[in-house]
Formats: sequence, structure tokens, C-alpha cells
Amino acid sequence: MQTKLKTKLNSNAQAVLDTVQGTHNHPTALEIYEAVKRVRSHMGLASVYRILHNLVELGYIKEVGRSEECNRYDGNVSRHDHAVCTNCGVLLDVPVEVNVPSEVLEQAALAAGIELGSYEVRLYGLCPSCSTPNNS
Ligand SMILES: [Zn+2]
Ligand SMILES: [Zn+2]
Repeated sequence: MQTKLKTKLNSNAQAVLDTVQGTHNHPTALEIYEAVKRVRSHMGLASVYRILHNLVELGYIKEVGRSEECNRYDGNVSRHDHAVCTNCGVLLDVPVEVNVPSEVLEQAALAAGIELGSYEVRLYGLCPSCSTPNNS
């Protein structure tokens, strides 16, 4: 029988959660592991992965930009949109509400054949450090 974390997190899970919520750059699992290791040197990468998975399931954090080589995690679980730099790949929060009419979303979901749960708008472009010419 699979044991699940209860609302009261154990100290390892709490350390991982603090790390994710303490950063605003959507860290990857590996980055979280590196940060957690500084305070909890005994924790292995596998347990960090497992805890992250549990925290997502419990709704403490969100998984964003899921891809093979990097899962990123977001300590902000309220609905918000993201901007991605096409050059360096940095993932930024969009600080304003992007309003998409719900009927447009419903239509799009219908066309895709999914039942609409949530949505996210992704902006792609160059971040400030990539759009400024590199002056060495
Ligand atoms: Zn960039
Ligand atoms: Zn975010």
C-alpha cells in the first residue's frame, strides 16, 4: 500500500517545499536537489524526485514545462502565465492577468477533444539579458 504524505509534511518534504517556494525562477528537479543538499546532505536525488512528485499531487507546488530532460517546479500554485526566453530558456512569471475569454477556451478545448481543466498562456521571446547586446 502506497503511503502518501499527509497535510502535515515530514521534515524532508518541508525542506523541499521551502526550497521551491523560496525561489521564483522555476527550478528544475536537479537545481532543487542541489539547494536542498546544502541543508540536508543525506538526501538523495531519488527522494527529492519522489517528494517533488508528492508535493505536486498534494497541490503544494506545480509542475511546469514538463519535458524529458527538465521538469521545472513552481511554488506559485495560483493560476498564472509564463514567458519563456527562446535563447536561454529562462521561465518567467507574467505579472499581469492575461485574459482569454472562456468561450474561446471552451472552443479550443472542444476542438482538441479535451475537457477543459485549466489553461496557461505562454509567451516566447528574448529575456532582458538576452535582448541586450552582449558587451564584454
Ligand atoms: Zn534569455
Ligand atoms: Zn510560475
